[in-house]
Amino acid sequence: MLKEAIYHQPKSNLAYAYDEETLHILLQTKKDDMEAVTLIYGDPYIFDKEEWQFQFIDMEKSGSTVMHDYWKVAVKPDFRRLRYGFSCTSKTGETIHYTERGFFESIPRDKDYYFCFPYLHKGDVFHAPSWVKDTIWYQIFPERFANGDTSNDPAGTMPWGESEPTPTNFFGGDFQGIMNHLDHLVDLGINGIYFTPIFKAYSNHKYDTIDYMEIDPQFGDKEIFRRLVKECHKRGIRVMLDAVFNHSGYYFLPFQDVLKNQEDSVYKDWFHLWDFPVVTKPQPNYDTFSFGASMPKLNTNQPDVKKYLLDVARYWIEEFNIDGWRLDVANEVDHTFWREFRQVVKDVKPDAYILGEIWHNSMPWLQGDQFDAVMNYPFTNAAIDFFAKQKLSASSFSNAIDEVLHMYPDNVNESSFNLLDSHDTPRILTLADGNIDRVKLLFLFHLTFIGTPCIYYGDEIGMNGGGDPGCRACMVWEHEKQNQDLFHYVQALITLRKSNDVYANRASFQFLDGNHDENTIIYERKHDSMQVIFVINNQTTSTSINLLTSGLFQELTFDGRTFQRNSIEITNDSSIHVSPYGFRIFEKTQN
Ligand code: CA
Repeated sequence: MLKEAIYHQPKSNLAYAYDEETLHILLQTKKDDMEAVTLIYGDPYIFDKEEWQFQFIDMEKSGSTVMHDYWKVAVKPDFRRLRYGFSCTSKTGETIHYTERGFFESIPRDKDYYFCFPYLHKGDVFHAPSWVKDTIWYQIFPERFANGDTSNDPAGTMPWGESEPTPTNFFGGDFQGIMNHLDHLVDLGINGIYFTPIFKAYSNHKYDTIDYMEIDPQFGDKEIFRRLVKECHKRGIRVMLDAVFNHSGYYFLPFQDVLKNQEDSVYKDWFHLWDFPVVTKPQPNYDTFSFGASMPKLNTNQPDVKKYLLDVARYWIEEFNIDGWRLDVANEVDHTFWREFRQVVKDVKPDAYILGEIWHNSMPWLQGDQFDAVMNYPFTNAAIDFFAKQKLSASSFSNAIDEVLHMYPDNVNESSFNLLDSHDTPRILTLADGNIDRVKLLFLFHLTFIGTPCIYYGDEIGMNGGGDPGCRACMVWEHEKQNQDLFHYVQALITLRKSNDVYANRASFQFLDGNHDENTIIYERKHDSMQVIFVINNQTTSTSINLLTSGLFQELTFDGRTFQRNSIEITNDSSIHVSPYGFRIFEKTQN
C-alpha cells in the first residue's frame, strides 16, 4: 500500500454538498492499489457511554486517472454534520485507517481525529440555474453568421463568403441575419445561444470594447436586439452575452482620456498604469491583456470601474432580459469583483447563468460564490486528442475524462460548458483532417456526456477552418454546400439527448472495462432503471468486442434521419462487431 498517494481534502472536489441533504465524499489512492475503501462516519455530537458513535459504508471506485483511483460515496447525515475517515484495504490484504491526523492500524475512537464537514448549509450548496442542465448551446460569432441588412454594413464590407476571413476584414453579419435564420437553430434543436461580443468595438471580433452600453452599429440597434431576444425566448432559446471585463479596447473613452490628459485624467486609476507619460509604443507601460497595447487591463478594484461594470452587467439583463453572461479572460480578474458581480446578476435575475472563460482547473471559481460554470477545455482537449487527432489510446482517453470528472463536484460537472471548438481554436473538421466519421464520433461523445454541450456555428453542416481567423469564416447557407447528412445526424443526437435523462445530465457516467482493443471505448450512462451502453470504435479497421454483460437490449441505429430501436439479445460471450469509425448503442430498462 502506498500511503503517500492516499489523499483527501475537506470542502473541496473530494468533499462537498451535492444538494441540500447529500454530501459526496471521495478518496484518492494509488491506481490499482486498493481492494476496498470504507467510509467511517458519524455525527460529532452523538455519544453512548462517552463513546463516539460511528458507522461504516462501502465506497465505490468512481474512476481512474493515470496515477490514481477515486473512491466515492454519497451520505445524508441526519443532522447535517459529519466527522469521517477512511478504512483502506489493499490488494495485498493490508488494512489502514486514514483520518485528518494520519494513518492508524486500529480505528481511532476520538472523533477529534477525523475529517470534519461541520454543517451542510443550504446557502452554501453550489446551485447553477436548473435550466442550464437541459441546455444545448450554439455559439454565434455575429460578424460571420448572416448578413440580413446591408444598410448597416461597415465600410469595405466584402461579399458574403467570397473570400477567406482575415484578422481585419468584414462581411457584414448582423442581428437581422440571425433573425432570418432562427428556423435553422430550431430545426437543429439547440435551446441556448452564446454570442461573442456585440458591444460597440473597433475590430470584427469586438473583444476591444469602445462602449459597453451600446450595441455595435454594424449589428443593428437596441430595438432589434430587444426583438431578437424576444424571438429567441418565444422559441425556448436562452441568450448569453460575452462580457469583456478584464480589459477595455484602445478606443474606450476613459483610456483615450488617459492618453490625452495623462496624470490629470480623472480615469488614471481605471487602469494599471506603471508611470507617466503613458505610452503605447514601442511597449505599453501599463498592464494589458497579454502584451496587446490596444487592450489595457481594467482596474476592477477601483470603485468607479467596479460601479461601471456592475451597471453594465445589470443593464443588459434588466433592459433586454438576457439569460446569462460569459466572462472573457475571467481568471485574470479578482475574485472579489466576481463575488460582487454574482450578487448583482442574481439580484436582477436569480436564474441567470454565469460562465467563466477559464482553460485550466477552476475549482477556486466554482465554490458557489462566483461562477456557475467554466468553459470545459480539459474536456475539449481530451476529446479532440482522442477522436479528432487520434493521439490517445482508449485507456489514456478514459484516464483523461475521469480526471476531468474528478476535478469538480458532480453538480458543477452537470452545468459545465462543454465545447469541441470555438472562435479561438481550429474547427473540429479541420482538427480531424477532414474526416467526417471522426467528427461524427466527436459529436456522439459530446452529446451523450455530462454537462451542457455547445456547438460552434457551422460545425453542424461540416464547415472547416484553421485557428483564428480561419475558424471565423462566413456561415454557409447554400443548401447544396451544407453537409446535410451531418446536419441530420447532429439533429438526431440532440433529439436523443432531449428525449430521455439517461442521455443527458441526470444520469451517471462510467467507462466499462469490457473486452476491447486500445482504440475502442465502452461507456455507460445510468438513470433510474435505465441503462445505456455505448461502444465506439475509434480506428480505421473494424473490431469485435465483448460487453461482459447479458440481457435483452434495444439497439439504436441511425437511419439517416432518426435513431431506430431494434431488440437484440446479448449474452456474456456475444461478440459485438463494430465497423471502422462506427458505434453501437444499447439501451436496457432494468426490471
Ligand atoms: Ca449587415
